Amino acid sequence: MTRVTFASGSAAETARVLHVLPEAVITDVTPFHPVDHTWPDQPGDTGTLSGSAVHNTVMAARGEEGTWHLGSSIPVKRGTEGWEWAVAHVLDAAPVVTEGDAVQLEVDTERRDALSAGHTACHLASLALDAALAEFWSKETRSDPLGNPDFESAANQTSFIELDGAADEYRMGKSLRKKGVDVAGIVEALPTIADAVNAQLADWVAADAPVRIEAEGDTITDMRRWVCDLPEGSASLPCGGTHVTSTGQLGAVTVTLDAPDPQTLVMRTSVSRDR
Ligand SMILES: [Zn+2]
Repeated sequence: MTRVTFASGSAAETARVLHVLPEAVITDVTPFHPVDHTWPDQPGDTGTLSGSAVHNTVMAARGEEGTWHLGSSIPVKRGTEGWEWAVAHVLDAAPVVTEGDAVQLEVDTERRDALSAGHTACHLASLALDAALAEFWSKETRSDPLGNPDFESAANQTSFIELDGAADEYRMGKSLRKKGVDVAGIVEALPTIADAVNAQLADWVAADAPVRIEAEGDTITDMRRWVCDLPEGSASLPCGGTHVTSTGQLGAVTVTLDAPDPQTLVMRTSVSRDR
């Protein structure tokens, strides 16, 4: 079991090697954030392991048969009982370390910071989108963390965190229309909705609201939540990623909205940080 320290913002740790796989190394502790194998929204961190290049970080799991499975080849859901869960640092070449060695782990912080900015912006943009779409709901539905109709949960299909940005795709099909969403109205009003989302995002960045990660423990399968104390209230949602520590660090966040077809909404979020 690997202890993870990315949630507290760590980017470097001295660790002990637990397992050496053909092209990956598992350690007792790591600052590296792994891509989630069931909801791969934020890419794995890159960096170095005692000088060797780590080009990806993935989840690792082994069941009773004793074989480690990495990333998308893990055959069970995250946290499944009876499986051992760890973080694997994927190297370009066969590892030169052996079990028990002490190693120095260093995350590429420039890339990490850009992913953290993209991930916080992604959550803020989805909350702003929920607020801007509230008037298009005609039936009661579950509420999002700020009390608006939860379009994000009802329609989000994929979410990809990028360097200083994010791309979200929403499906607006029959099931959403049945829930009382005026899909045609949304498609018609996209420019106005985008303006409302961008105005809300500007307010939230100006408010410099604190952002933190709440974790139930320090293993990779422990539940983590993103919490942001916005002027409208404290927003909290499940999240396994990394984040900035206040919305003001984002500098500016803007979105574009497109409907490539009448049942699909694509939101692209961009961050312009002062650096
Ligand atoms: Zn998240």
